[in-house]
Amino acid sequence: MKGLMKTAKGPGHVEVRDLDKPGLPGNDWVLIKIKAAGICATDIHILHDEFPRYWPPVVLGHEFSGEIEQVGAGVKRFRVGDRVVAEPKNQACGVCDVCREGKTQLCIHRRAPGWGVHGAMTDYIAMPEHLLHKIPDGVPYDIAALCEPLAVAVHEVTERARVECSDIVAITGAGPIGILAAFVAKSCGAHKVLMTGIGRSEAIRFPVAKGMGVDVVVNVEKEDPVRRVMELTNGKGADLVIETSGAGAAILQTVEMAKTCGRICAIGLGAKDLASLKWNSAMFKALDLHFNFSSSYSSWEKALRLMASTPYDLSKVITHRTTIDHWEQVFHDIQNEKGIKGMFIPTLDN
Ligand SMILES: [Zn+2]
Ligand SMILES: [Zn+2]
Repeated sequence: MKGLMKTAKGPGHVEVRDLDKPGLPGNDWVLIKIKAAGICATDIHILHDEFPRYWPPVVLGHEFSGEIEQVGAGVKRFRVGDRVVAEPKNQACGVCDVCREGKTQLCIHRRAPGWGVHGAMTDYIAMPEHLLHKIPDGVPYDIAALCEPLAVAVHEVTERARVECSDIVAITGAGPIGILAAFVAKSCGAHKVLMTGIGRSEAIRFPVAKGMGVDVVVNVEKEDPVRRVMELTNGKGADLVIETSGAGAAILQTVEMAKTCGRICAIGLGAKDLASLKWNSAMFKALDLHFNFSSSYSSWEKALRLMASTPYDLSKVITHRTTIDHWEQVFHDIQNEKGIKGMFIPTLDN
C-alpha cells in the first residue's frame, strides 16, 4: 500500500511512499480499511514545519473513517465490517491528572495518528478498540471523516463556551473549524451567527458558510467587523465570540465584539505564541474567556448524532475528493482558500 508521509524534520519532506500493511500490535486492536481521510490545517503546518510535535517518518492524517477488516482476540465491542471513526488519542498515559479526569486529549504523552504514530492518508490503519466510535447508519464515509473537526467544534461551542439558544455569536475566521462552529451554534439554537474572513474567503468559504448556518459574513479587508457586530446587536455586542483564525488582528478585536458579561472562546492556533488582548476592556466587561484544544470523548458521540440528524448538508464543506497522488494540489488549494475540507478517498483509485 501507499502512504503520504512526512519523511524528515524541516520544511517539505512530504512524499508518497510504499508501506507494509500494518499488523495488530495487541489483542484489543482492530485493523481499519480507510474509506476517507481529511486534510487538516495541522497536516499543512507539518508540511511547512510549523507544528513542533511530529516524529518522522510518519504517515500524515488524523481525520478518518473506515471499515473494520480484522479484530484482535480481545476486542469486545466491535466486529469485522463495522463502520467506524477513531479519536486521535493514542498513547495517552491513563494515569496522569488530566487522563484520570477523562481529558485524555490533553495528556502530554499522547501521540496522535498523523504526527505521533502513522496516520490515515493511506489504505489501512491499526487502532486500539477504546478509541473507536460506530458511524450511525445513513452517514456516508466522507461525512463521517469530518467527525474529528466537528467534535472539536462541538467541544468548543457546547462544552466549553456553552452556547445558548438565542445567543448572537460572532466567529472570527472562515476555515473548516469556523464553519463547523457556526453549524454547531445554529444547531443549538443560536439566534444569529456572524463570521469574519478575508478577501479570498469570499469565493468559496463564505458561500458555504452561509449554507451552514452563518447569517452575516464580513470581509475584514473591506468592512470593520466590530461595527458590523454592533449593528447586529443594537450596539450591545455578541453574547459569544469564537476565535478560530489565530490572527493577531482578529484576536485583538474579540474583546470589542463581546457584550458586557459575554464569553470568548478561542480555538485557533496563532503563528506566534504571543498575542495582544485588550486586557482592561475585558476586565470592565467581566468577560469569560475560554481556551480549547482538541476534543472530548463526549463531543465525539454528540458530533456523530448531529451528523445523523441534522437538516444541514455537511457535504458542502468537502470541496475536494481525490487520492493521495494529487496531494500537492489539494494542500495548495486548501492553504490558499480555494477549498475548505479536502478528502483523500482511496477507492477512487479503482
Ligand atoms: Zn484536524
Ligand atoms: Zn495522561
